Amino acid sequence: MRIADRLCQGGTPCFSFEFFPPKSEGGVAQLFTTLRELADLAPAFVSVTYGAGGSTRQMTVDLVSAIKRETGIEAMAHLTCVGHTREELAEILERLRAAGVDNVLALRGDPPQDQATFVKPVDGFGHANELMEFIRQRDLPFGLGGACYPEAHLESSGLDDDLAHTRAKVDAGAEFLITQLFFDNAFYFHFVERARKAGITVPIVPGLMPITNIAQIERITRMCGATMPMRLRLALEKRKDDPEAVLQLGVAHATLQAADLLANGAPGVHFYTLNRSRASRMIVTALQVQSVG
Ligand SMILES: Cc1cc2nc3c(=O)[nH]c(=O)nc-3n(C[C@H](O)[C@H](O)[C@H](O)COP(=O)(O)OP(=O)(O)OC[C@H]3O[C@@H](n4cnc5c(N)ncnc54)[C@H](O)[C@@H]3O)c2cc1C
Repeated sequence: MRIADRLCQGGTPCFSFEFFPPKSEGGVAQLFTTLRELADLAPAFVSVTYGAGGSTRQMTVDLVSAIKRETGIEAMAHLTCVGHTREELAEILERLRAAGVDNVLALRGDPPQDQATFVKPVDGFGHANELMEFIRQRDLPFGLGGACYPEAHLESSGLDDDLAHTRAKVDAGAEFLITQLFFDNAFYFHFVERARKAGITVPIVPGLMPITNIAQIERITRMCGATMPMRLRLALEKRKDDPEAVLQLGVAHATLQAADLLANGAPGVHFYTLNRSRASRMIVTALQVQSVG
């Protein structure tokens, strides 16, 4: 199944869930428990991230095919340019094809922890659009997705510059885009409006990360540059000694965000789950009961 086809069908909103490859066998077992818990919600697809290096990279390929095989849920592999030559990327893509994977989220990738900035690999690629062009030139049959940034990517010189680079990804073959997480829907609506004016017609799926832990969300927003609205920040601060109250607020906020996004034209919602199902399950269950969208 090509994810873009499902996104373009209209009708029921597409809910999708993102996971990262666990480092231990226990983590893999936990991930499959999470997947089984989420399967009842009939996700349109799930996706597995690609690490900045090390053993979890092979795990992405293995997990995506295992998820498809064992749960029947459509699973998309993320793939990044970090540390790979063209030849290595071609091999990974061949492995994905052989494993029956239909969709790839093609990214430049974040640098490994010991590197401050992204370094273009020798005989590799410097940007996501180059990886996409490479995939299309090789005539690989993947449905292709790309990342986009309603608040602009941290390294870009501004909204217009970043939008031009997003357009380059679509021109290179991206059939849909998934946004970086955000907490204020105005960023998404403004981005979609500007993208449409810039000739980007592909589905733009909002990515939401339900807040479940204050320290974790502070670290993640620092890393990706997402703005936390002051009222939400203050409400979290008030609950900082009560983890359950933090989760309840995070779920309530993301539910309201998702309902508003779907009611105003978003084709679905992609949840950054951090390999846990509770928050996403609560949100999607509420949305499905309400038939929002
Ligand atoms: C939905 C989603 C999933 C993600 N999954 C992963 C993952 O699995 N693994 C991981 O490591 N990271 C992941 N990331 C993070 C992502 O890798 C980082 O945000 C990374 O810094 C940029 O990746 P990109 O594909 O957007 O890069 P690019 O599109 O290459 O953009 C990177 C920067 O370069 C600029 N740029 C883009 N194209 C050009 C060009 N042709 N010429 C000049 N400048 C250009 C952009 O404006 C931007 O500032 C994900 C992000 C999102 C939103």
